[in-house]
Amino acid sequence: MTREVKSTCPYCGVGCGLLVATHEDQITGVRGDPGHPANRGRLCSKGSTLHLTAARAVQLQTRLLEPRMRASRHADPAGPMRNVSWDEALDHVADRFAALIRDHGPDSVAFYISGQLLTEDYYVFNKLAKGLIGTNNVDTNSRLCMSSAVTGYKATLGADAPPACYDDIDHADCLFIAGSNTAWAHPVLFRRIEDAKAANPALKIVVVDPRRTATADCADLFIPILPGTDVALFNAMLHVLIWEDLVDTHYIAAHTCGFGALKTAVRDCTPAWAARICGIDERQVIAAARMFGESKAVLSLYCQGLNQSSAGTAKNAALIHLHLATGQIGRPGAGPFSLTGQPNAMGGREVGGMANLLSAHRDLDNAEHRAEVAKLWGIDDVPSKPGKTAVEMFDAIADGSIKAVWIACTNPAQSLPQQKRVHAALRRAELVVVQDAYKTIATMQHADVMLPATPWGEKDGTVTNSERRISRQHAAVPALGDSRDDWRIAVDFARRLEQRLTPERPSLFPYETVEQVWNEHRESTRGRDLDITGLSYARLETEGPQQWPCSDVSGMSVERLYTDGIYPTADGRARFVDVQYKAAVDAIDARFPLILNTGRLRDQWHGMSRTGTVPRLFAPEPEPALEMAAGDMDRRHLANGDLAYVTSRRGSQIVPVRANASMRSGQTFLAMHWGEEFLSGGAADGGGGHGVNALTSPAIDPVSKQPELKFAAIKVLRADLPWRFVAFAALASDELHERMQALRPLLRKFAFASFVPFGRERTGMLLRAANDGAPAPEIVAALDAAFGLDVPDVLRYDDRRRGCSRRMRVHDGKLIAVALTGEVAAEAWLRSYLESGRSVAALGRLLLAPGNKVPADFTARGRVVCNCIDVDEAAIVAAIGAAPTGITGGALFDRLQRALGCGTDCGSCVPEVKRLVAAAVSAA
Ligand code: SF4
Repeated sequence: MTREVKSTCPYCGVGCGLLVATHEDQITGVRGDPGHPANRGRLCSKGSTLHLTAARAVQLQTRLLEPRMRASRHADPAGPMRNVSWDEALDHVADRFAALIRDHGPDSVAFYISGQLLTEDYYVFNKLAKGLIGTNNVDTNSRLCMSSAVTGYKATLGADAPPACYDDIDHADCLFIAGSNTAWAHPVLFRRIEDAKAANPALKIVVVDPRRTATADCADLFIPILPGTDVALFNAMLHVLIWEDLVDTHYIAAHTCGFGALKTAVRDCTPAWAARICGIDERQVIAAARMFGESKAVLSLYCQGLNQSSAGTAKNAALIHLHLATGQIGRPGAGPFSLTGQPNAMGGREVGGMANLLSAHRDLDNAEHRAEVAKLWGIDDVPSKPGKTAVEMFDAIADGSIKAVWIACTNPAQSLPQQKRVHAALRRAELVVVQDAYKTIATMQHADVMLPATPWGEKDGTVTNSERRISRQHAAVPALGDSRDDWRIAVDFARRLEQRLTPERPSLFPYETVEQVWNEHRESTRGRDLDITGLSYARLETEGPQQWPCSDVSGMSVERLYTDGIYPTADGRARFVDVQYKAAVDAIDARFPLILNTGRLRDQWHGMSRTGTVPRLFAPEPEPALEMAAGDMDRRHLANGDLAYVTSRRGSQIVPVRANASMRSGQTFLAMHWGEEFLSGGAADGGGGHGVNALTSPAIDPVSKQPELKFAAIKVLRADLPWRFVAFAALASDELHERMQALRPLLRKFAFASFVPFGRERTGMLLRAANDGAPAPEIVAALDAAFGLDVPDVLRYDDRRRGCSRRMRVHDGKLIAVALTGEVAAEAWLRSYLESGRSVAALGRLLLAPGNKVPADFTARGRVVCNCIDVDEAAIVAAIGAAPTGITGGALFDRLQRALGCGTDCGSCVPEVKRLVAAAVSAA
């Protein structure tokens, strides 16, 4: 029977509502929920392909379907895992945890969890660590995402609560977007910005970003500051606001404190001073300040550019100062609005699921708060010693002070900075438990115990999006295999640990349903700033998603906060705090002269454990590339596609380079998604430490403890690797992922390797590798076997003198596998034939001809811009060229949409199509 189930998207913090179509216990489609206030029926390219990630054929290859244990990882790191029962796995882990806690104390164990977990999952893990075990060693990958937003809000506004809402975009007359490529990271929200601009052309948009991103393309004022210099810009804007009498003295006097000291502190922060630090024109500082101060309603949108910094708290506070100084807060269209990267980073904050927080926005260092939580949980005390935050936690595992770590729903062996150390830490740990839906993640190689968890589509609970809106997430299909919900696994383990540690006490985990967990969380919020006692699962079902607070006293969901100018501080006033510009920790110098910035791609999500199973999502970015300014490449004698050693003070990774006209000289960019599952290379240290985070910095903000993932000093040197290899094979979706997983260990045999799936109707896997010299024969044989080229009917061309070879298999006139060694330029047309399934029968000797003789009828495709309709850049440029002369930008864009269909489905590509149109108009 076909049916539709309401749920939410598991990717970004926009929190779009979904209608999930199922047929006979399988997910068959998704569409945006028209009734969900976050997206009103829209989805982006990631959300709209969720059903492809959930296809049964894919899931059966990528999912962990039963608990597994390894006999002895330390004696035999590559030793086999064996399937075990849940009882055996959880009893074993409970025995080991209990023994470590007895012998070494509660702080010898740790939990590293995730902003992808549902609120209920988070709640149980937090209670397990802090309530049962007595350690605050529970932290989350949200530490990498938004902990500076938390500390920024708390320092200035008194509580961790984004005061604005999505509807404020429609009410603002100035949007101030800083450190956020909203167009790619929060695409459906960006559709709202486009709508607001269309409805109100007078809406001013200021974008502050080191890169000219797709978001910057829509800006009335774009300020390309140097990475890490945001505080200097914001302080100088405050200087201008004060100097030009654009501050709201009444609001400051009535609702804030500390302004006098800050006014003195920013006296010397002149536009000229900021311009020097930020690498911009001082007129841009003045213009931004005037737009901010003269607008009736300013809404700031900001994200990882502010948060992922050793000055993250200061950056957040300095921006919030601008709102407090101008009274731009607590009104429709006005306020500082941090966008959360992950789908439920907010839920984790609400339950206090981090090393320095407690339930319902309580603080660990507040004795009264600890006593309240202890009373709620029915225990004597909650430990006061702060736990280890993400980077600190893996340092403590590396030095042996944390001996067991439980990792749930996250992939630290890809996502944390200083990967070499993270892998070393996991190798050293006495016990590593990995609870995840996917067996393909890099962290699994370190697991002693693997616990299969249900992913999106199979689990039930709640999430909170960036605007404080709580939505229900429903299971659309039953759990696959023996996998269980994350909260259930944590409860099953907790009860076993109680039998070993506190057998005399009634269980702290009496829950039989996920709703019971949520009800306990709800009670913990009573009287707090995020009071949700007026909500229930039933109300969320009948009335739809609701924003917090929503107490049982008012019964009303609150759209925006601080409308009365009263803040959750002791005196009810917001705070101006001391924020001074400090340079990034990982300084550039003569040895490391370039800055590495990281961020998202439009169509990928985090470490790609889910989006990486949809070949078409690689079409816009089919391989990793370090983006650089063309001049910086010229100086290094690098051309597009050349390989280069990218080296920071922590590690080195070989990556292809690519010129990007949006990059300023001295800056580079590599997407955050490329971990060792897709980008690898030689491992001199014996394993681990690949991908973008081999390079990134573990420097942390002193308050938020968030690592500085967006600033690493690097050098880039040409990599001359004479042995080049490209192989690709057509593989149906029911075998593609298993074949890719089997081949992954080989990636480390090469100095460079990138490995991705590709295709739409006809899919396959693509390996590009390079080396100092030809690899050992057994590796060549393994590659042949992996690509199905180890059979007698392979067509061959070999030129041993030149080190070139070409091997391929043709079946029924169609290419099904190709391997090129030495000369690899023929990849483009050969892969086009393989992917399209066109017959190669008429090509004859051309198939094996040396060099790169291209078939006469071959037309190279460009980078895919519109992934929904499959429109590439070459087609768009050609259509622009064919348009009548004199046609204007808007009309040209409309014409393209009619002719090609690009941007007419999810709309995620609209900014890029507009960029191509603008470039053509400008050239004309
Ligand atoms: Fe998902 Fe895209 Fe919506 Fe984010 S914007 S929640 S990724 S559909």
